[in-house]
Amino acid sequence: MQIYMDNAATTKMSRAAIEAMLPYMEEIYGNPSSLHSVGQRAGEALIAARERIAGCLSCDPEEIIFTSGGSEADNQAIISAARIGEKQRKRHIVSTAFEHHAVLHTLDRLKEQGFEITLLPVHEDGLVTAQQVSEAIRPDTCLVTVMYANNEIGTIQPIAQIGAVCRDKGVLFHTDAVQAAGHLHIDVRAQNIDLLSLSAHKFHGPKGIGALYAKRGVRLTNLIEGGMQERGRRAGTENIPAIMGMAAALTEACGHIDDSAAKISALRDRLIAGLSEIPHSVLNGDGECRLPGNVNFCFEGIEGESLLLLLDDKGVYASSGSACTSGSLDPSHVLLAIGRPHEIAHGSLRLTLSEETTAEEIDYAIRAVKETVEYLRGISPVWRDLLNGTRQFVTAE
Ligand SMILES: *Cc1c(COP(=O)(O)O)cnc(C)c1O
Repeated sequence: MQIYMDNAATTKMSRAAIEAMLPYMEEIYGNPSSLHSVGQRAGEALIAARERIAGCLSCDPEEIIFTSGGSEADNQAIISAARIGEKQRKRHIVSTAFEHHAVLHTLDRLKEQGFEITLLPVHEDGLVTAQQVSEAIRPDTCLVTVMYANNEIGTIQPIAQIGAVCRDKGVLFHTDAVQAAGHLHIDVRAQNIDLLSLSAHKFHGPKGIGALYAKRGVRLTNLIEGGMQERGRRAGTENIPAIMGMAAALTEACGHIDDSAAKISALRDRLIAGLSEIPHSVLNGDGECRLPGNVNFCFEGIEGESLLLLLDDKGVYASSGSACTSGSLDPSHVLLAIGRPHEIAHGSLRLTLSEETTAEEIDYAIRAVKETVEYLRGISPVWRDLLNGTRQFVTAE
């Protein structure tokens, strides 16, 4: 068995996305800035792709710029809002403690430049409230940036309510929607979103391509200077094949969000039910208000890393925390943000499903995790101490 359950890290490209790319590598390889017809055909494709992506977000094509991915879109959105704020002497930003590092590290950089950052604490259920945001906004706040859905624990934030608060208070609102795009319905107008980031490889498109939606009138700061591509806001010859792949993947995903969410969340709940039978385990993040494909557990008395390696041997490909933090020995900042103590935050496992996941795979994964947790506990000195009472359990039986 080979079971890929790491779709929050990246997804397999869809057939439609691959097929949409091929003609732009083989025949229509022109530069859209060229005046000849090979270039112009690429230019027309670029216009069509932008329209389709805008359609999926309910914005205008002029409000979309292409970037190299979610990280770049996050950087550009936040830095742009900071530059706008600076001009009005507003140097305070509100965000949350469990954002992706593309957001947190950009905020660190701004802090060094004199910005004040309020990171809202996250409730144990993995949610922040619009009221928390409202209370944190000050007269000098220039930006609120709250992720749409968390990449580790999958919790979905009350984006429309936060958008309404920001609109009422006249503060720009950015959301990192990298985990949400293609999986949840997004309407930037109805949800009062001013800036939004997405990334193609999280919804079965190619890697290295993403988009930033910026509401008309929100002036973007360039991160990359050069030619006049993307209306002068992002220089560099457009990656046409990747853009075509992203447009195809997003259109496909947005065409069946409800069906796919119903199917995947049923599998998710079966997996959650199975893993909950493991003693001294705890689900991270609210059980309902979470991405259809996200399952994240802590198992007391074991190390997440060892669990991953043994699961890999059994053909189950999973993650502990995010791809970006695995490899470091620090426990996930997301699990610490929701109040998990260090000792159990180390024993975390994230399994993220896709449309291709089957019920058989879920049952296999449940068995594999159960056996592996049992085995690791059998050889764990920490578990022995827990059993003989030298250490206290943090989780319930
Ligand atoms: C994957 C991810 C990113 C980064 O996107 P890239 O395209 O890999 O740069 C940013 N935010 C979240 C929530 C993500 O899951």
